[in-house]
Amino acid sequence: MVRDYITDVLEDIRRKNPGQEVFLQAATEILHSLVPLLEREDKYIKNRIIERILVPERTLMFRVVYVNDKLEPCVHTGYRIEFNSAIGPYKGGLRFHPTANLGVLKFLGFEQIFKNSLTGLNMGGGKGGANFNPKGKSDGEIMRFCQNFMIELQRLISDVSDVPAGDIGVGAREIGYLFGAYKKIKRRFDGSLTGKGLNWGGSLARTEATGYGSVYFANEMLCKKGDALRGKKCAISGSGNVAIYTAEKLYQMEALPITVSDSTGFIYDMDGIDVMALKKIKEELRLGLSEYLKYRPKAKFTPLAEYPAGRNAVWNIPCDAAFPSATQNELNLEDAKELYKNGCRLICEGANMPSTLEAIDFILSKKDMLFGPAKAANAGGVATSGLEMAQNASMQSWSFEDVDSRLHDIMRHIFRISYDTSKEFGDEGNLVLGSNIAGFRKVADAMIDQGYL
Ligand code: GLU
Repeated sequence: MVRDYITDVLEDIRRKNPGQEVFLQAATEILHSLVPLLEREDKYIKNRIIERILVPERTLMFRVVYVNDKLEPCVHTGYRIEFNSAIGPYKGGLRFHPTANLGVLKFLGFEQIFKNSLTGLNMGGGKGGANFNPKGKSDGEIMRFCQNFMIELQRLISDVSDVPAGDIGVGAREIGYLFGAYKKIKRRFDGSLTGKGLNWGGSLARTEATGYGSVYFANEMLCKKGDALRGKKCAISGSGNVAIYTAEKLYQMEALPITVSDSTGFIYDMDGIDVMALKKIKEELRLGLSEYLKYRPKAKFTPLAEYPAGRNAVWNIPCDAAFPSATQNELNLEDAKELYKNGCRLICEGANMPSTLEAIDFILSKKDMLFGPAKAANAGGVATSGLEMAQNASMQSWSFEDVDSRLHDIMRHIFRISYDTSKEFGDEGNLVLGSNIAGFRKVADAMIDQGYL
């Protein structure tokens, strides 16, 4: 009966949100995991929590025009989805990418609700961005884009209402331009954005946090089984800050990261990824990964054009553990089968929803495989944004060690409540089920407490 109800709700969502496939995918994953909870307690269905949680509280869509270096006006669409504020101010990043649209940002905002809840901090869920591609743009173009984007976004945000941060295409440089514009328009120096520069309100360890957190989470999964990361070969996808700091932390755990990828192809370095070279190429020079060969001539670069059809070739590399840390749906059923066939026994999601529903079903069906779902495994980034908010509100700056050890504690907490919840609902170790139920329950109970709005 609950299953029929879920099917009906999803059908309704599909009808009301045409073309928003990834949003539907995120909703499908979560709703199916909630079945055992909804069967046990009828208050969520009675209070229409599922129907309510699937609709953002507020969505702002706006035009952003900026003038490029050739003095031509360029037109983009900006968004901010304020999805849920039951447990705190809306919190979540901004994505600047050509594929950013309402459906993509809704999927991200929806995931963010449960991810933020799992951190144990008081943060609601939100997401925003624009279909603007910072790649190949000059600093001046990016600055003008960010300033024009903020002219609209400033209507919604503040340190207590809605606190954006970075995501794909929005890093330290973009946050700087966005914050400068916010301060100028509002005449307020406050913590209304996170991921700020270290000498103007940013938190130490924020840049590293998502990658470090993902590795801490993988370590917790392994420890529970009496195993460890030490000596494991790890395939990573992506080469943004999640991938870079996943690689860095893996070395600290005595594991060996052997791949990274970007939109041009992937690097396989069997001796271990050179993190210094990677930082130089990606953080400083902002170049494609073929550049890596100049630093490490023995590594192999496979261009995107040579990937087998429908496959992400980085997952063909034999490894013990995989850290998909690039983007949504980058690991499909075939990729999962290939990883398993080649001996991979742990997948830890650094990106948001990197595995397709079919891939997750396959992975969960293998009892000797560990799976760290995104909203648990990559929550370290937003958790550390929460720590940045706490430092801003109390006018303090904590040391790197202090922030990192709090991050480590938060990742342990997320693992524990996800694991314990999976056990409570009779599917011990299924962290998809455990994290979805644990994340949902806190938000849903708060919604019930706060009445029908
Ligand atoms: N974009 C990151 C995420 O997906 C971080 C968001 C934040 O720090 O607010 O969780």
